[in-house]
Amino acid sequence: MNHPDNCIFCKIVAGQIPSKKVYEDEELFVFHDIHPWAPVHLLMIPKAHIASMAHVGDEHAALLGRMMVLAPKLALAQGCNPYPEGGFRIMTNTGAEGGQEVHHLHLHVIGGARPWLKG
Ligand code: 5GP
Ligand code: ZN
Repeated sequence: MNHPDNCIFCKIVAGQIPSKKVYEDEELFVFHDIHPWAPVHLLMIPKAHIASMAHVGDEHAALLGRMMVLAPKLALAQGCNPYPEGGFRIMTNTGAEGGQEVHHLHLHVIGGARPWLKG
């Protein structure tokens, strides 16, 4: 399950595809979406290849918890306005019917002044 040859997000983690990095630690990598919907549009991914939320098990609980705790901090640091007038959206598309296009688990962290392109 680690670093499939054809996974673009694994290639971004490895530096083989350039990205605008926002944050990195041992487990997580965060970068700007290439086609932002809104003034702030981050993608937060685990460095380890997990295909989707449908592939998550009990062993991933701490990792997912870290992602959810980090997302609001980065949202504010990257320009989202404070709650409650501001805020942000955390979204994870899963599978074809969930609208997932890249099959490496990622949280979209979207925010900033409206209007947005989508959503
Ligand atoms: P999904 O539809 O799978 O939830 O979202 C995939 C997201 O990845 C899309 O918003 C798309 O714009 C973004 N994306 C796809 N390829 C790249 C890339 O090479 N670099 C960056 N930064 N974002 C990408
Ligand atoms: Zn991957």
